[in-house]
Amino acid sequence: MTPQYILQKSLCRPPSCGSSHLKNEEELKAYNLRVAQCEIDGLGYAKEYAEPGYTDPAKGILFANWNYFPRGVADILENYGYEIEWSDEWDFCSDCNKAFRTSGNSYSWQPSYADLDGSRICIECLQQDPTEYLESLEDNPRRALNIDGIDPADYGYTMLEGEYENGWHPGQNDDPKAIYKNLRAEGFKKPLLFQIDSVGQFDISFVVWQRDATDDSAEYIEPAEQPSPLTSSSASIPQHWMRLHPHMRMDPQFWIKVNDLVVLNSIDPKDDEAIKRIIEQVEGKRLY
Ligand SMILES: [Zn+2]
Repeated sequence: MTPQYILQKSLCRPPSCGSSHLKNEEELKAYNLRVAQCEIDGLGYAKEYAEPGYTDPAKGILFANWNYFPRGVADILENYGYEIEWSDEWDFCSDCNKAFRTSGNSYSWQPSYADLDGSRICIECLQQDPTEYLESLEDNPRRALNIDGIDPADYGYTMLEGEYENGWHPGQNDDPKAIYKNLRAEGFKKPLLFQIDSVGQFDISFVVWQRDATDDSAEYIEPAEQPSPLTSSSASIPQHWMRLHPHMRMDPQFWIKVNDLVVLNSIDPKDDEAIKRIIEQVEGKRLY
């Protein structure tokens, strides 16, 4: 019996938490059924996880928006040997198709994938040869290695400085850009790599590595003035934004994305209504 068959059969019962945007009951029922059908047609599947801490189920992992299916269907699928996950929180490796989280499930979560040349690559594939990935992060204080399980020391890097802190607590104001500039001014000419080595509820700590390149004539590269869209630090994220989120979301990666959009769209950080719209945009759904 395929999971699609089980899900199809489940549609005779109402969804656990379908949409409620239509007043007409028949129209709403039809709408929820259409969405559920789309979810069945596009049901995500991965044989295995590439996310640390997860155990591979016997038959694989299914990804969908489970709100459109009746209560209990997840239990049935799990009894058949599948694990279920929410499709908007996961993605798949372009190389091996294993699944990894793209949104955090704890304060200390760090991604187990990287975007490389337009493809998302899981940590297991990256670990086979992370050289190209590490070099793509070099000499940019707005980007950092944030994948547990890749130790720059194994790939020809030496740690220069540590431990820096950046966050919302007093004193946690180490600025990667200033650190980068200072190191260059002090005569460190080899490629530099920032690594975020721990993430807390309101802060991160990071270290700096130098690649022991044989060619030590690497030029000083002035960091770009404009923040890159996905890699700003959390230093400038106002604390009051979190209170604007109806669920008080505390995933630093989430707020970094919000901050990037605020910067890109030149929004006043004190404009609560505009910030709420950005929060919704990043969440990908209506919240208010
Ligand atoms: Zn992979």
